[in-house]
Amino acid sequence: MSETYLLRGASPLGAKPTDVLVRDGHVAQVGSRPSAKGATVVDAAGLVLLPGLVDLHTHLREPGREDSETVETGTVAASVGGYTAVCAMPNTLPAADTAGVVEQVYRLGQQFGRCDVQPIGAVTVGRGGTKLAELGAMADSAAGVRMFSDDGDCVSDAVLMRRALEYVKAFDGVIAQHAQEPRLTEGAQMNEGALSGVLGLRGWPAVAEEAIIARDVLLAEHVGSRVHICHVSTAGSVEILRWAKSRGYPVTAEVTPHHLLLTEDLVASYDPIYKVNPPLRTGEDVEALRSALADGTIDAVATDHAPHPVEDKECEWLAAAMGMTGLETALPVVQQAMVDTGLLDWVGVADRMSVRPARIGRLTGHGHGVEVGAPANLTLYDPAASWEVDPAESVSRSRNTPFAGRTLPGRVVATFLRGRATVLDGKPQ
Ligand SMILES: [Zn+2]
Repeated sequence: MSETYLLRGASPLGAKPTDVLVRDGHVAQVGSRPSAKGATVVDAAGLVLLPGLVDLHTHLREPGREDSETVETGTVAASVGGYTAVCAMPNTLPAADTAGVVEQVYRLGQQFGRCDVQPIGAVTVGRGGTKLAELGAMADSAAGVRMFSDDGDCVSDAVLMRRALEYVKAFDGVIAQHAQEPRLTEGAQMNEGALSGVLGLRGWPAVAEEAIIARDVLLAEHVGSRVHICHVSTAGSVEILRWAKSRGYPVTAEVTPHHLLLTEDLVASYDPIYKVNPPLRTGEDVEALRSALADGTIDAVATDHAPHPVEDKECEWLAAAMGMTGLETALPVVQQAMVDTGLLDWVGVADRMSVRPARIGRLTGHGHGVEVGAPANLTLYDPAASWEVDPAESVSRSRNTPFAGRTLPGRVVATFLRGRATVLDGKPQ
């Protein structure tokens, strides 16, 4: 089924307004007065047109935890947030550690997905951290896995990490590391510092993240294989990445929206909505993360969308699950933290939320410019809007957003997946 849309007066990546014609799944024309017989006209005056966003780090929870999220509900949330592709983390039940499970997730994405779903494979069997999973079989499967991660847990064994890097090198794969030295973070509840002492919660030292990143950038360089660092959260991690990149090491990194906006002070409420892995850090860390994203030391924004059912979050701090939802609020949070502060323009946002994530994940058909002939994976965004986040309005199956009650700028007006509207007037189609 072919749909034709004329986006009238849109600003591609914030440039001067023009008309964009979407036809047969592609950007057919850019410029004034395109011939648009039969097109659905969308008034895009004042709206920024971005390449469809790409998330390197989404927990879709299926198979196994469909009470939290499914491929269908998670990708509806993604489309409402402006995403046209998400990479699904393998910490499902069972873990996505075989060709069979990654193919299952891939097919669920094709069947029910409101955006493209690219499964990430586990690095070790059952994410157990002791035996390498069938990386080659997952790469050769219909899912064509290129990114592997034990996310939720760190690949802490240096020998195993080295072997994984060596293995994926053959097919241009990448290991996405959840950098958390497990012995240094046993029982950890929040960022280690003065506040953790005051609150009586066990501290989660920055060095537990930084030590693993330091080790792994050295291993990646030694092996000559790509490592990607998930959810970087400390100023020290930024310094190590900056050093590694200055030497040309094969490392990329991501930061979450929540680590760009929120600080550990929120934990003083003991509200588990703010319990997350890695933990919220200090204002200085937030400043360092923003600067690093602005100068490209950190390549990408990734949501770490981690839906949890109410009973796992609305309980006492120690018992609560770690994680926050993020797909529906990511772009507004990035606008507030990065654009409204003058640190990034819309070209920069497109680069960090679409172009580079697509390149890191080796996702073809995503992360291109808004240009004639490109696949029409597009997001139409109103930066002048503002809204109060109401968890009840979320289309995710879970409600654990840390931004509830906050006023955020900007709203996604429309999302197009290969020319088909998945969102129009802010509503899933
Ligand atoms: Zn993680």
